[in-house]
Amino acid sequence: MTAAEMTWPDLLNRPLKMLIDGQWVSSQSDAHMEVINPSNGQVLVQQSLGGAHEVDLAVQAARRAFETGPWSRMRPSERTRLLLQLADALEHNGDELALLETLNTGKPLKIARAFDVGMAAECLRYNAGWATKLNGETRNVSLPGDWHAYTLREPVGVVGLIVPWNVPLAMAVSKMSPALAAGCTVVLKPAELTPLTALRLGELIQALGFPPGVVNIVTGLGHEAGQAIVAHPGVDKISFTGSTAVGKSLLTQAAGNLKRVSLELGGKSPVFIFADADVERAMDAAARGIFGNTGQVCAAGSRLFVHRSVADRVIEGIAQRARALRVAPGLSPDCEIGPVISARQRERVMGYIDSGRAEGAEVVAGGEAVQGEGFFVQPTVLLNTRADMKVVREEIFGPVLSTQLFDDDSLAQLAARGNDTDYGLSASIWTRDLRVAHQMVRRLRSGNVRVNAAAALDFAMPFGGYKQSGWGRENGREGVEAYTELKSVAIDLN
Ligand code: NAP
Ligand code: MG
Repeated sequence: MTAAEMTWPDLLNRPLKMLIDGQWVSSQSDAHMEVINPSNGQVLVQQSLGGAHEVDLAVQAARRAFETGPWSRMRPSERTRLLLQLADALEHNGDELALLETLNTGKPLKIARAFDVGMAAECLRYNAGWATKLNGETRNVSLPGDWHAYTLREPVGVVGLIVPWNVPLAMAVSKMSPALAAGCTVVLKPAELTPLTALRLGELIQALGFPPGVVNIVTGLGHEAGQAIVAHPGVDKISFTGSTAVGKSLLTQAAGNLKRVSLELGGKSPVFIFADADVERAMDAAARGIFGNTGQVCAAGSRLFVHRSVADRVIEGIAQRARALRVAPGLSPDCEIGPVISARQRERVMGYIDSGRAEGAEVVAGGEAVQGEGFFVQPTVLLNTRADMKVVREEIFGPVLSTQLFDDDSLAQLAARGNDTDYGLSASIWTRDLRVAHQMVRRLRSGNVRVNAAAALDFAMPFGGYKQSGWGRENGREGVEAYTELKSVAIDLN
């Protein structure tokens, strides 16, 4: 699909509504807010801002759908079938969803189609199968007498799903799919900056005949709609992806009814390139890992550690790639890197680059905002960064790579340098030496480690963070089980 062949999405022809109990509604207060295209700063459409009232209606609807509605009692194979149909519907409407995602985030249209929509469909398919495979098990107890003892895995109930703006559709789907497979009902709050694909997803869910109240979508602000979901006594679990600061702040509110809480938070992920690495592949992966999605990725490899003997070649190689990347509006056919999400985010990223300069880092590629309409930042590589600099300690969430050298560090010392961060989400290691690879894998305090590989997201692999990168894991059996409670049952047969 080229820009010329695209039809303007119908969703944008009128103000957006929210999906509550199977109905499309506006907020009672009539509060609304513009949705902006970050590629040109223009208004795409108005969205409705929900608050405590809408959240309450949504939670009540989800509760009814869970307690008395068909969802949690539906045959598991029926839930599988609906989730598979939704995956097909995403692909069937893939061009339109990709266009909405590109208009709303600025990411390259090709990437939105292949990655964002493609991954969302794959995620649904992976999790659909779990509906029929979640089991308790019999237990061999040693109580006196004769017993039948077993566990039951039951859906946790009504779950609140709060997602960020970097990969809006895939993020919404990656939370919704395991929750629905497990038999939960959901209230989703998209990020205020990116409601479009979540609402189109809601339309597709409606069209497939999901029972009312199973999926509710409330658009609105984090401190209003988001907070109301977190504080609501009718919500059994929160699954949140976003900043570490907000993740921490949710905990107090969620404590009211001791909600279960899963948190997928920020990262400051290290990439290690050893002297014996396949340097060309390592450079490609390192560049893609920090510049892909304009650096707005929780697992972005933002701290590069490179062996002194290959450092000049690697850093110059990544800097060349940074300079060559075409920074352009997402709809432009040669776009490789889109804008950051907002003017505010651009200011934030530029603030970090300036702080790096002020603390003594050298900018070897990029380093400037791109003038004109849209919120563009050049892919940036910083040389001579130190562990105590702000650009090395804090998550920037933009296309900015900090680089440090190592030479005679022991593996213990090197891993300690990698671990010298509040975060622990992801790490990559480039070496041909098995001993080095395995030792580093064991020493790194990180939920995800890759060896000689660029991004490797697979829904069978648990994803999540150590330390302040979060609580719990998404994907895999663990990701679905996170939406369940475990009941122990003991029956005295005497
Ligand atoms: P954020 O504020 O943490 O947003 C994530 C989600 O939480 C959004 O839906 C947000 O709503 C909502 N939210 C905000 N405050 C809330 C509250 N008090 N109660 C309940 N929900 C709340 O992140 P952001 O402001 O979009 O981005 C800021 C920084 O967070 C980024 O620069 C980056 O460092 C980090 N971040 C990390 C990830 C990740 O994947 N780990 C993703 C995005 C951002 P609103 O959209 O209305 O704020
Ligand atoms: Mg926010």
